[in-house]
Amino acid sequence: MAFVRNEPAWMERDRAALLFFRPPYPSGRSIREDAVATAIEHYTAYKARPFTREDRDKVTILFGGLTWKHERLVQGAFHNMGYKAQPIPNITRADLDAGKELIDVGACCPTIFTTGSLVSHLKSEVALKGRDEVVNNYLFLTAGACGPCRFGQYHQSYEMALDGMGLRDFRLLLLDDNQMDQGAHNGGGLEINLPLSLGLVWAVLCADVLTDMEYAIRPYEVTPGQTDAVMKESVEILYEAFRQRPLKGKKWGSLAWHFTTPYFKDALRQVRKKWDAIEVDRLQVKPRVKVTGEFWLQTHEGDGNYNIKRWLEQEGAETIPPPIAVWFDYLLRTPMWRMEKKKHLDKKIPMKMAMVRLFGKLYKGNYNAFRKALGNVPNQLPDQEELKQLASPYFHHELRGGEGHMLVGKAIYSHLHKKAHMICELSPYSCMPNTMSVGAMANVLGRYPDLLYAPIEVKGDAEVHALSRCQMILTEAKKRSQSDFEEVLQKTGLSLEALRRIEARHPELCRATTRIPHAGYAGTAANYALHLAKRGRA
Ligand code: SF4
Repeated sequence: MAFVRNEPAWMERDRAALLFFRPPYPSGRSIREDAVATAIEHYTAYKARPFTREDRDKVTILFGGLTWKHERLVQGAFHNMGYKAQPIPNITRADLDAGKELIDVGACCPTIFTTGSLVSHLKSEVALKGRDEVVNNYLFLTAGACGPCRFGQYHQSYEMALDGMGLRDFRLLLLDDNQMDQGAHNGGGLEINLPLSLGLVWAVLCADVLTDMEYAIRPYEVTPGQTDAVMKESVEILYEAFRQRPLKGKKWGSLAWHFTTPYFKDALRQVRKKWDAIEVDRLQVKPRVKVTGEFWLQTHEGDGNYNIKRWLEQEGAETIPPPIAVWFDYLLRTPMWRMEKKKHLDKKIPMKMAMVRLFGKLYKGNYNAFRKALGNVPNQLPDQEELKQLASPYFHHELRGGEGHMLVGKAIYSHLHKKAHMICELSPYSCMPNTMSVGAMANVLGRYPDLLYAPIEVKGDAEVHALSRCQMILTEAKKRSQSDFEEVLQKTGLSLEALRRIEARHPELCRATTRIPHAGYAGTAANYALHLAKRGRA
């Protein structure tokens, strides 16, 4: 074979002789063997050092990516199982730059943010405690999955970043987000069994209902700052509940206990008493904005999404946050759709489907019991079958990745059921599934032209541009909430002052934990005015 195209045969012969000439080279290797031995460093996949049972008492499991409320309760579930665990600090704008420096430029914005936050944290810890201490006494736990989006490759970005920082011996553990019982991990120090997984899931569900409560109350609080203060106390009460959770059984026993115990509901009822003390004024007319979008971006509270949930509140809106529970519900539902197609091929499938259906019902029943413990103020979970059906003309449910068809489904659901005046969809820069959803929404808007939809591309910079775009749609949403309210005043024949007089006769209605029934309007003030009118006539 010629080394250079069109090389004469004599040149090829001479080169070959030179390459295979052995002594007098000191290594005793040919030039080629020498070159191969010295210049080529073969790629080896990252493999974490074992985390053993003995390490458990001295190694702290780091984790992150959720809100501070979710993370604190998750920490309680870890502590309960005897692990040292600590969330890394909330993501900041500087983490985006830290991530960009070390991972590939095509990564989606959540991958860059989360990698950057790990990088920043490890750098500061190394500076503070020294490299050996960090490498030996900490590890990072992350979730992953396979699929058509970056979520399946987060850990590779983390590995790339560790390489770049010279911390390849730092331990990174990867969990499958789809299995509750994964057994012992690499060395046996971490055992993903049902008691731990259920503790983590229940922690997320409790944080979800609390967060829903928080966003429903804060915009209407009479004393500024009271909701945030109560939220802090509530999270600590629940943290203790998770830390002291009784451990009942390893498998089915644990599952049965979690679904039947009043333990968590009692803890939530205790929390509810704190919220009872908050006085609210729900006659303030505010547009309700449903936040949807990519999983991490919509969950996050901070620089990673321009702090958009708080920003919407500052702009005079009531935000409806996206519970992680909807994502779990989606994960429970997708096997049903797959099995549905194959049920004529295997006799066992109908039985499996019945079990998944039962599990889904228990899951939703449990979530509703948590809501009830908080006075049913937190929102219901949407019906997954309905989301699929609403989205189906625009986005097929088998197109997995990101939130799949749910973004389209949730937007139509909120619009048709009058749950929100407007949808704010957070789309990460360089995200394939979200780009598809935003594209499909063009078609949806053709069918529902009065649906107020603000897709916000998030890439760390361009904050002013993104927020001003949202503000334009929000102006329309404000007009709608005002006209809803005026329509109710007209319908009932009551003025604002008359409503205030009825309210004064029913002070219990001003408590944060009083649920206001949905009476067909998207806005809280309109529904509340109708409720007051009924109470006034009673
Ligand atoms: S859904 Fe989009 S933003 Fe999220 S991990 Fe996948 S590619 Fe990245």
